[in-house]
Amino acid sequence: MIDLRSDTVTRPTAGMLAAMSRAETGDDVYDEDPTVHALEERVAGLLGHEAALFTVSGSLANLLGVRALVGPGQELLCEAQAHVVRAELGAHATWTGVTTRTWSHPRGGVDLAAVRRLMAPDAGPYLVSTAAVAVENTHNFAGGSVQPLDDLVALRDLVEPVGIRLHLDGARIWNAHVATGTATSDYGRLFDTVAVCLSKGLGAPVGSLLAGSADAIAQARIWRKRLGAGWRQAGVLAAAGLYALDHHVERLAEDHANARTIAAAVAEADPSVVDPGTVETNIVLLDVGDRAEQLVDRARAEGILTGIVGAGVVRLITHLDLTAADAQRAAKVLAQLVR
Ligand SMILES: *Cc1c(COP(=O)(O)O)cnc(C)c1O
Repeated sequence: MIDLRSDTVTRPTAGMLAAMSRAETGDDVYDEDPTVHALEERVAGLLGHEAALFTVSGSLANLLGVRALVGPGQELLCEAQAHVVRAELGAHATWTGVTTRTWSHPRGGVDLAAVRRLMAPDAGPYLVSTAAVAVENTHNFAGGSVQPLDDLVALRDLVEPVGIRLHLDGARIWNAHVATGTATSDYGRLFDTVAVCLSKGLGAPVGSLLAGSADAIAQARIWRKRLGAGWRQAGVLAAAGLYALDHHVERLAEDHANARTIAAAVAEADPSVVDPGTVETNIVLLDVGDRAEQLVDRARAEGILTGIVGAGVVRLITHLDLTAADAQRAAKVLAQLVR
């Protein structure tokens, strides 16, 4: 089976497993795991922040990051297709009392005029006050789009003077870095808190991090434990993350090339389904309308797994366990099916 459902489906490589088995460990709830410390320091540096906290999932890193910026009954603004509002099962409302309002942007991007219109930094005793804005880069449900650095700088310039904070859902910030050459720290520094995943394109079996100020991360550590997500000899997992940072970042360019191969073939068969020019990283969205379920079923019958992520939209994600030959085969089959 060629699995294009997600970049989370990868298996640890032999080199990664060897690094995991060699890891020095300690009790991370006692803050004594040297491999976890090494990973946290490295990722804090990569994102231009003082500190970082290793977490079991990106959803938890987002929850802890947003919680550090937005109090109960305050609001977070974000794009309507953002993972934080669409795919975290209301965690921010359920556990930390955060409310949200959204703007819509076809590429999941920052609509500065909409943020200006929506934001209410100090709304007084009757209306909800805006405490933070979240941005997703790359944007998953918008098809792996990269947020232009200029837009992020403009957003920072808009909200900083009025005390509104910024959270980056950078689950795939590594893909944005490889696609643009922009340093991860140049993205990271614009935000107060940054969540990143090791278990997506980087191919680690488990793990995400939240980066921020030393104070925000100290609070996040307490909340992580409060939510039952403190862990002990997590160094075996941190070792996989360190290995992934050493070996699996620059190769994301191959995933991007494979995504373009698939998009180009499908567009040649039916240009209304996808515009290859919109494929910036490792995600391809096929807009097939009421053919979506049929396409997924027929692709599965041909040995290709895909998924539906919105009305009439089939998503394909390329990753570490997909070779260029796999991508060519998937391209051929999918092109035949949409034709
Ligand atoms: C996958 C993902 C997350 C959360 O990751 P989990 O580890 O699955 O909780 C957050 N944001 C985006 C954009 C993602 O794609």
